[in-house]
Amino acid sequence: MAQMKITPEAYVDQEGIWRGGIVPICWENPENYAQETAWVEESAILHIEGLNREVSSVRFVGKDNQRRPWGKCSDASNGIRITIADQWPSSQVGQQWMRDASGAKIDYGAGKYIQVPTRMVLNFTFGTFPCSPRENCIRIIAVHELLHALGFLHEQLHPNAPQWCKNRWANHKDVMGFKPVMATPQYDQDSLMNYCEDIYNKPLKLSEGDVIALRRFYRPQ
Ligand SMILES: [Zn+2]
Repeated sequence: MAQMKITPEAYVDQEGIWRGGIVPICWENPENYAQETAWVEESAILHIEGLNREVSSVRFVGKDNQRRPWGKCSDASNGIRITIADQWPSSQVGQQWMRDASGAKIDYGAGKYIQVPTRMVLNFTFGTFPCSPRENCIRIIAVHELLHALGFLHEQLHPNAPQWCKNRWANHKDVMGFKPVMATPQYDQDSLMNYCEDIYNKPLKLSEGDVIALRRFYRPQ
C-alpha cells in the first residue's frame, strides 16, 4: 500500500489578496500584553515580510505607518483587527468586503466595493485549551492566523486532500473561500496551514510551499 500522505497544495482565496501587499493592522486590546504582542509582531516580520523584506511584498502597517509596534485600533482602522481573548484562535480569510446574502461582493457602482475589517482572535493565555511552550504557541498560531488573513485557506479543504484528512475535519465549520485556487503544484506536508499535521509542536518555519504560495501573490520587490 502506498504510504499515506496528504497533498496539501497551498490553497488560497484569490478574492482575499491584499492589493500591493499593504495590510493595515492593529490590536483591539493590547493593554497588559506588551510581551506577547511583541512576539506576534516580530514573528510576522521575520517569517512573512522578512527582516529585509526578502520573504514577500507584504507590508503590515501599524499605527502612524510604523512597522512595529502595530498599536491600538481606532474606530476607523479598516485592515486586520486583532482581539486578544481566551478562546480558539481564528481569522477571517483575506481582505473582507461588504457582501450580499448570496456572498457576492456588493457593487456600489462602477466596480466600487466597500472594504470591511478582517477580524482575528489570538489567545495568549491558553486557559480554554492547552498549548505549550507558550511563547512558541503564540508565535506559530499568530503566523498561521496571519496567513489566513492574507488569503490562505486550510489544506484539508483541498479537493485532493486524502480522505482520512478530509474526514477528520469534515464536521468542523470552515471558510471555503470565494475563489479558491491551488497556489503550489506539489505535495507540501510541512505547510503551516495543514491541520492534518501537528503544526503547533514544531519549530516555527514557513514550509517551502508556504513561501512559494506567499510569493505567488505577494512577490518580493
Ligand atoms: Zn487555521
